[in-house]
Amino acid sequence: MIITKKRDFQELLDNIRDYKSFFLIGCSECASLCGTGGENEVKELAEALRAEGKEVTGGIVAKTGCQVLGTKKELKAYKDAVNSAECILVMSCGAGTQSAVELFGDKPVYPTNDSLFLGNMTRFQVFDERCSMCGDCILDKTGGICPITTCPKGLLNGPCGGMKDGRCEVSPDIPCAWVRIYERMKKLDKLDELAESVIEVKDWSTAQSPRALSTREKKEK
Ligand code: SF4
Ligand code: SF4
Repeated sequence: MIITKKRDFQELLDNIRDYKSFFLIGCSECASLCGTGGENEVKELAEALRAEGKEVTGGIVAKTGCQVLGTKKELKAYKDAVNSAECILVMSCGAGTQSAVELFGDKPVYPTNDSLFLGNMTRFQVFDERCSMCGDCILDKTGGICPITTCPKGLLNGPCGGMKDGRCEVSPDIPCAWVRIYERMKKLDKLDELAESVIEVKDWSTAQSPRALSTREKKEK
C-alpha cells in the first residue's frame, strides 16, 4: 500500500487562499487505512474548512482514487457538487491527485496528503517501508526480504561491518536486514542457496521515471 500522511493544514490553507468552494475526494484503499482519506477524514476536513469560512459543496470516498476511469464514473453522481466547486482537494496519494488533474482540466487540484512510501501496515496504524519498486525484484534470492529497501545502505550481498548484535548500524532501532535474511534462509534450510547466490550490481535503468506499462494484449489484425 502507498503510505500517506496529512499535510500541514496551515500550508493547505495557504495553497487554497484564493478559493472559496471545494469538492473533496478521498480514497477507500490505502488512504483510508492510513487515516488520511477515508469517510471520517473527509468529514473532518469538510468541518475544518467550514470553520475557516470556506464552502464545501460535497465529497466522496472514491473506491480507488488512482484509477482514473473508475473515479470518473463514480463522480458522475456528484456532477452538480463538483461543478459548483472552484477547487478540488484530493485526500489520497500523489497518484490520486494526478487522477483528479486528468479529470478536471479546468479546475485547480491540491493534495491534502504527503505520499511517503510503499509499505505494510505491520501493526495497527504502524507502517513500515518494504519495497522501493526497483523494477527488477530480487526477493527470490533473499528469502522474500528486500535488502534494497530495509537495509539503509541497500547492500545486496550480506551485512556491513557495522552490524552489532543483529541490529542495524544506521538505525539501531531496526534489525539488520541481512541478519533477518540469514535467519529466514536458515529456517527454510536454504543457507547453501544463500551462500551460492551472488546478487549482481543492480541495473537501475529499470527504476528510471517516468515508467509506464500496458498489460493489454495486442489485438491480432
Ligand atoms: S527487490 Fe525491488 S521490487 Fe523487489 S521488493 Fe525490493 S525494491 Fe521492491
Ligand atoms: S547493519 Fe545491516 S541493515 Fe544496517 S546498514 Fe549494515 S547491512 Fe544494512
